[in-house]
Amino acid sequence: MHINQFTEVISACRFCFMCRHLSAVGQAGCREADTPRGRALIADSIRMHPEKIADADFVDTIYRSDLAGSNRFHCDGYHDGKGYDEVGLQLALRRDIVEAGTQPENVKKIADEFEKTADWKVEGAGDVLYFTDRYSQSTPEIAQSFAKLAEKGAVKYRTISGGCIGKVLRVLGYADRSKAVAKKFAAFINGLGAKTLVVSNPAAYDTLVNDYKEYGIELKVKVMHSSEFIANLKLAYKPIKESVGYIESDFLKNYVKNYPYPAELLKQIGAKCEPIGTNIEESYTAGEAAVVLPLLNPTLTGQLAGQVAKSVDNELLLTASPYTRRTLSDANLKVLTLEEFAAQSL
Ligand code: SF4
Repeated sequence: MHINQFTEVISACRFCFMCRHLSAVGQAGCREADTPRGRALIADSIRMHPEKIADADFVDTIYRSDLAGSNRFHCDGYHDGKGYDEVGLQLALRRDIVEAGTQPENVKKIADEFEKTADWKVEGAGDVLYFTDRYSQSTPEIAQSFAKLAEKGAVKYRTISGGCIGKVLRVLGYADRSKAVAKKFAAFINGLGAKTLVVSNPAAYDTLVNDYKEYGIELKVKVMHSSEFIANLKLAYKPIKESVGYIESDFLKNYVKNYPYPAELLKQIGAKCEPIGTNIEESYTAGEAAVVLPLLNPTLTGQLAGQVAKSVDNELLLTASPYTRRTLSDANLKVLTLEEFAAQSL
């Protein structure tokens, strides 16, 4: 089983309750099972009794996780610059569940649907490629803002639109199918002969930079999150008077390890950012790293968004994540992506 690569994590986390506040689903629903310790106990139970991989409550709990990964930095068992990788354990457990065939029906359905969308088209001209994923496409203002900023910076670009590039399949536990889709997308991108690939979605950035590397797939372009690309344009912005709340992306903070460009761009714009929630360790993304949580469990996603609403006082929230923008806007919070905020500040 894949979880056997994480026996150290299982042993450490099942006796530890120090990072319970870092599981947003645990905070939102107050279920002990939805904490890193609860999930490690499930993994330990399955390790000792493999037949328990069919336990419906266990499987449901593992697919409820928001996968935020804050404990990659804020684990109390932090040693030699490395915390226990509780998210790695959960992803391994999802792979084991899929390989045992005990995943819920909606997981199978979502995976099949996303795999079918692995097809892309190109529009425009230029050395720069701009990829719009499902969440970016669901908020057209994001691509419109990117266009405004690119025009201001005299950048010509091609837009790539289409579906799954591997992340959803990976997150659901279908590692082999994720790799096959990733190979197809890389061949498509490499065939375009461009120099730069810009993505608005941190999930796409993480998958192109980290997952593709793990799969041994080479991309012959420099991949950038849109915050890096826009910051590099060094545009002039109007001074901003009101303070805003910036919601850290789980992917850019915890998976890519404190990607610096959202902060750099906010500095260029002159935004006065107030802290969000009770401390910088917690996740307020409403399940960004679980990528398809609104499809898997809309009630839970609503609870996460409600938790964010209770934790913020800022009238305007900013995010690097089109997922968080979509999910919190649906819960009536005022949220803009960095592209939108930058374009409005020109
Ligand atoms: S990730 Fe670290 S702090 Fe959290 S339960 Fe495991 S050992 Fe404890």
